[in-house]
Amino acid sequence: MLVFRKPIEGVERPQMPADVVIVGGGPAGMACALRLSQLIDAHNAAHPDSQLSKENIYVLEKAREVGQHCLSGALLDPRSMNELLPGFEKEAPLDAKVIKEAVYFFTKNGKFKFPITPPFLRDHGNYVISLNRFVKWLGSKVEETGITIFTGFAGSELLYDGDRVTGVRTDDKGVDKEGHQKSNFEPGYDLQAKVVILAEGPRGSLTKQLISKFALDKDANPQTYGVGVKELWEVPAGRIAAGEVIYTLGWPLTTHEYGGAWIYGSSGAGPNDNIVSLGFVTGLDYADPRLDPQRVLQEFKKHPFVAKLLEGGKMIRYGAKSMPYGGWWAIPPVAGNGWMILGDSAGFLNSARLKGIHLAIKSGMLAAETAFEALTKDDSSAATLGAFQKKVESSWIKEELWKVRNLHQGFEHGMFAGMFHTGLQMITGGRGVRNRYPAKAGYEHMRKLADLPADGGPEAHLLGPAKGDGKLTFNKLTDLYHSGTKHEEDQPSHLVIHDTNICNTKCVKEFGSPCQNFCPANVYEMVDDASQPNGKRISLNPSNCVHCKTCDIADPYQIITWVPPEGGGGPNYDGM
Ligand SMILES: Cc1cc2nc3c(=O)[nH]c(=O)nc-3n(C[C@H](O)[C@H](O)[C@H](O)COP(=O)(O)OP(=O)(O)OC[C@H]3O[C@@H](n4cnc5c(N)ncnc54)[C@H](O)[C@@H]3O)c2cc1C
Ligand code: SF4
Repeated sequence: MLVFRKPIEGVERPQMPADVVIVGGGPAGMACALRLSQLIDAHNAAHPDSQLSKENIYVLEKAREVGQHCLSGALLDPRSMNELLPGFEKEAPLDAKVIKEAVYFFTKNGKFKFPITPPFLRDHGNYVISLNRFVKWLGSKVEETGITIFTGFAGSELLYDGDRVTGVRTDDKGVDKEGHQKSNFEPGYDLQAKVVILAEGPRGSLTKQLISKFALDKDANPQTYGVGVKELWEVPAGRIAAGEVIYTLGWPLTTHEYGGAWIYGSSGAGPNDNIVSLGFVTGLDYADPRLDPQRVLQEFKKHPFVAKLLEGGKMIRYGAKSMPYGGWWAIPPVAGNGWMILGDSAGFLNSARLKGIHLAIKSGMLAAETAFEALTKDDSSAATLGAFQKKVESSWIKEELWKVRNLHQGFEHGMFAGMFHTGLQMITGGRGVRNRYPAKAGYEHMRKLADLPADGGPEAHLLGPAKGDGKLTFNKLTDLYHSGTKHEEDQPSHLVIHDTNICNTKCVKEFGSPCQNFCPANVYEMVDDASQPNGKRISLNPSNCVHCKTCDIADPYQIITWVPPEGGGGPNYDGM
C-alpha cells in the first residue's frame, strides 16, 4: 500500500520566533536576504539607538547544500545584480560573457538561420553561468551578513491565524515508509514569523497551498508551464566558443507543440572552452499523452547540427525543471496579510527571452524593501506588505513583462498562429489583437488516446521512452544517474496521489498513464497486477524524483500533489 507524506499529527513541535522567514534559497530568496541585510545595516548605522537584529531572519532551503537544487540554462541578464551588488562581476562565478548569438529553425535534417536575431533573444552584455555555482556564491554572501540559512529544511506547511499567515512548519525527519516515527524521529519546527516570504521556484508547494486557500488565482489566467530537460556535455576543444549562444525552434517538435532549445558554450568552472549546456524546453500543453520531454531532447541531439557539435564528447550531468510561461496575466496577487511571493513562484519569468533569474533577483530586492518597512513599523499586515505589489507594478519587472504579456497565449493554437500573434504583439507593444489574451491550463490540452492516431501520426518520434545509443542519446535511467539524485529511501512517498483508483481504472485506459512519459526521472510505473480491472497498478519510485514539479502540473486529472520530501533529499545539480 502506498503511504503518502504529511506532517505527523499529535506531536509537540519546537516553537521558534522569527522576524522574517524566506522559504527557498534560489536567486529570489538569496537576493531578498542580502537586500534585507543591506537595509538593516544602513538603518543601524543611521540609528544607533534603535538597532534592528538579523538574528531572527532565516532562509529555509530543502537541498542539503545551497544551490544543489538550482538548475537553469543559464544566461544571466546582469541588470538586477548591478543594483544589488554593484561590481559583482569581479567576484561572482561567471563562466563567459556572451560574444555571439544565432537563432535557427530546424527541420528534420536541415536548418534555416534567422537573418537577424529577434530583439528579445539578443544576449550581448549577458553572462553564461551555472546557476548552481552562482547561487552557492550568493548564499556565501548571505551567510557573511549573519543571516542564517537552514539547509536540508523544507517548508512543509504554512501556519495561519484566520486570514493571516503566521509562520512555516518545517519537514518532519525520521518517518518511515509506513508513516511511523523511526528512532531518529525529529518533528518539524514551527517558525512563528512576522513575515513569510515564498521563494520556492516554479509551482511552489506552500505557494500552491496559499493560492488555493485564498483563491488568489481567481482573477488571473491559469499559470502555464514548460519543462526544460538539460544535459551538460564536455566536448573536444574548438567546437563552440565560451560565450556562444544558439537558440533553435522547430524539429523535433511539430507545429502543434510549443517549445525550443538552447545551446550555450561555456568554460565551466575551468579555463577551457569545452563545456556545452544544452537543453530542450517543451511546453506542458501538448495534446498527446504519450509525448515524453526527455525523449524530445534525445531526438533533438540526433539533428546533424547538434550531433556534430557533440561528436566525441561526453555527457556529464542531467536534470530537469519546470518554468512558468504564463506571463503577466497569470501572476496572482503577490502580497497579503503576513506573506509575499517572489520569483518563479509568482510567475516572474520572461518566456520570450527564456529568462527569469534577473526578475527573481529584482523581486527579492523589492520584497526585502517591503519587509524592512514592516519590521521598522512593526506591522506586517496586508496594509504594509501590499506595498510590494505596488513596487512590482512600478518597477522594470512590469515594464519587461508587459511587452510580452500575451506571448505564450498566442501559441495556444499552434506555431503558425503563434508567429502571427508574436509579430502583431511586437508592433503593438505586446497587445496584439486584444489587451489580454485568455489561456487554458496546459493539462486541459491533453487529449484522450481514443481521439489520437494509434501510430502517433506526425508526433510518432516524440512518443514513448527513448532507447538511447549510450553515446549521443540516453534512456531515462542513464540520464537520471547523471543528476546525482538521492533521497532517504525509508520515507512516505512525497508524490501524493489523491485517488490511486483513478490511475488504475480511468487514466490507464483514457490517457495510457501519461505520468510514465512526462516524468523525466522514471518515478511513475504501471506494474502488472491481475487484481486490477485493467491488469495494471500505479507504483512509485519517489527516490528518483528530481523535483521538477512536472507531474503536479501536467497530470490530466490534477490528482498529484508534489510535497517536499525529507529535507536534504533531491538532485545534486553540480555545475548546472
Ligand atoms: C531549463 C531552464 C532554463 C532556464 N534558462 C534561463 C536562462 O538562461 N536565464 C535566465 O535568466 N533564466 C532561465 N531560467 C529561469 C530561471 O532559472 C528561474 O527564473 C530562476 O531560477 C527563478 O529563481 P527562483 O529563486 O524564483 O526559483 P528557483 O531557482 O527555483 O529556486 C527555488 C529554491 O527554493 C527551494 N525550495 C523550493 N521549495 C522549497 C520548500 N518548500 N522549502 C525549502 N526550500 C524550497 C529550491 O530547492 C530552490 O533552491 C531557466 C529555467 C529553466 C527551468
Ligand atoms: S515525480 Fe514529478 S517532480 Fe519528481 S521528477 Fe517526476 S515529474 Fe518531476
